[in-house]
Amino acid sequence: MHYHQVIGQEALQRRLTELVQQNRLSHALLFLSKEGTGALPLAMSFAQYLVCETIAQQGGSAPCGTCPACHKATKLIHPDIHYSYPTVTKKPGEKPIATDFITEWRTFIELHPYGNLFDWIEMIKSKENSQGKITSEECNDINRKLSLKSFESRWKILILWLPELMGNEGNKLLKLIEEPPADTLIMLISENESQLLPTIVSRCQLIKVPLLDTAQIEKALIERNNTPASLAVQVAPLCEGNYREALQLVQHAEEDWQVLVRDWLNAIIKTGPVAQTKWVEEISRLGREKQKQFLRYFIHLLEQAVQVRMQGGQYRISEKEKDFADRLNSIAAIEQQEAMVNELNKAHYQIERNANAKILFHALTIRLYHIIADKFVFSLT
Ligand SMILES: [Zn+2]
Repeated sequence: MHYHQVIGQEALQRRLTELVQQNRLSHALLFLSKEGTGALPLAMSFAQYLVCETIAQQGGSAPCGTCPACHKATKLIHPDIHYSYPTVTKKPGEKPIATDFITEWRTFIELHPYGNLFDWIEMIKSKENSQGKITSEECNDINRKLSLKSFESRWKILILWLPELMGNEGNKLLKLIEEPPADTLIMLISENESQLLPTIVSRCQLIKVPLLDTAQIEKALIERNNTPASLAVQVAPLCEGNYREALQLVQHAEEDWQVLVRDWLNAIIKTGPVAQTKWVEEISRLGREKQKQFLRYFIHLLEQAVQVRMQGGQYRISEKEKDFADRLNSIAAIEQQEAMVNELNKAHYQIERNANAKILFHALTIRLYHIIADKFVFSLT
């Protein structure tokens, strides 16, 4: 993967490159990141930098993308770049290793470079409820692979995705991580430091991969996913720095959260309890992830309404959202809008903790009614 194929993260690419140039690269790196920030693509691009023949001959700050080594790295067939990742058991008693799934892995990286564990397991599982795991046999295989001499480049590289799924088998890699053979680089890509063996964490140099910012996600959606700019602007602020989430939101955009918000407000302000109950039934059927997305979208609309009120025409917003912001401003003052955001945030928190959706949205409907009705009381006095 070339450096420019990674979304953002240029500062880390520069830092990694400098570590090599200054001969300060540790032999074991632990990339810590949240899902969808691109830690895996970042590590892959760095591996390509290390094997690139142009870099080896002339130096430079990014892999050339055209030498034979770069071509092999891009296709995930470079003999000195090894991948390890969770696998599933297809038949009882089977002891899978990563190599058994290498064809699927190449397809996964091509289609979903920002995919998560769920996407990967969906691709390789043969039965429901398959759990991904890095097996004891896989740890043995890693030790075997890295004990071989490198084939074509100076470096021998292991990229291990989601080491938190090794469990105690990780002990088998301790010696390798502590005293690897010369010119070996181990890169662990983790989303959950607390599930790693402390003995592994303490042996690695930590690389914290930051969340992507809204502008980076918006640009990536437009340039990589051909998302219309109007939709990218709408989705980018909602995905909490997670490009995978942004892609999901774009995919579900046809569900049109704005209609759902409008129906809810109408039920609260105008049409009353029957419409409210019907609306709550509808949102309760959506599933937790979508309910959270919906709440974030509503919060985003309210925040936009406040911005429109304060900045007027200066504020960059789509026509459709501007209309909506004006309507929100006509039904609630800033204090009411802040109280609503507060309630929606609390609901988001409770849904994450498995609250019952029906009870929660019923209660929330009543609270929003009181918050909005208060404004009319104010305006009468
Ligand atoms: Zn190259």
